[in-house]
Amino acid sequence: MPIYEYICKDCGKVMEIKETLAEKEKGKKHTCPSCGSKNMTQYFGNMQVIASTHLH
Ligand SMILES: [Zn+2]
Repeated sequence: MPIYEYICKDCGKVMEIKETLAEKEKGKKHTCPSCGSKNMTQYFGNMQVIASTHLH
């Protein structure tokens, strides 16, 4: 199962979410575990945006 990264537009939290392509195509909404927002968008590794909070 592929892992996608999502970023919360409200608090900037990035999380890795495993989902199937079928789930992704259905437009399944994810909830931010940090602030509870559903304002999530797929994150493609834009370092400028998240460098300070994206710790691995
Ligand atoms: Zn959030």
